[in-house]
Amino acid sequence: MGELGVAVVIEDDDDVRNLLDAVLQQAGFEVHSAGTGRDGVDVARQRQANVITLDVGLPDIDGFEVLRRIRQFSDAYVVMLTGRDEELDTITALQGGADDYIVKPFRPRELRARITAMLRRPRVSSGDDAPSSSAVAESGSLGSSSSRRGSVLLHNGLALDTETRTVALRGTPLGLTRSEFDLLHELLKGTGAVRSRADLVRVVRGEYYGEDTYISEADERAVEVHIGNLRRKLREDPQDPRWLVTVRGVGYRLAPKRAE
Ligand code: CA
Repeated sequence: MGELGVAVVIEDDDDVRNLLDAVLQQAGFEVHSAGTGRDGVDVARQRQANVITLDVGLPDIDGFEVLRRIRQFSDAYVVMLTGRDEELDTITALQGGADDYIVKPFRPRELRARITAMLRRPRVSSGDDAPSSSAVAESGSLGSSSSRRGSVLLHNGLALDTETRTVALRGTPLGLTRSEFDLLHELLKGTGAVRSRADLVRVVRGEYYGEDTYISEADERAVEVHIGNLRRKLREDPQDPRWLVTVRGVGYRLAPKRAE
């Protein structure tokens, strides 16, 4: 296996597929690729992909359908490759459970940076895997508005474990994407402070998006979509949210703690 695990490239354009293959191999992945959607689903299953790049426009079934099928057996990190400025595509991709998207044509450096930044925040550390050092460091400096029990943040019936990167609502596990988990974590540890959409873009994108990086409207819109997905999974009451409060024109903050 490659140093970083297994990457699967699902892409029908030979040039783009070869480029992705080379970029991911160089980054340290064992790479497998497929030129159609159905093959892509099979390869992702057989190879137990850790990371998948998925083109939207494929010759047989489209990328959204491929994503839907992959999500039935895999929580791999999925980056969708969408056409230029097709915002509808990017929103549909995120709503379908993709972790991120990249607009074509893309810079190989950007793709590589986003994927390696994401891998430093593993979704789940199971079995023998030690929790990542960053998760441990974070759990040592958590805010005080949410109760702590070891590395677990508790807030209005929600329990977020920073070591295993799992979330449960009244004991029932929630299946969150990496990006959803990171956003929820950021707000839960934020002691109720307002976080701007631009701040939250940086949370999702990692250090590739530094303080002076231009953040587009599409990036901010992507955060809104992730928050919308979170609300749906949390079954938030929009009139009376227990966790995610919209601060109009700015961003989001954590709802106050309630007496149970
Ligand atoms: Ca294509």
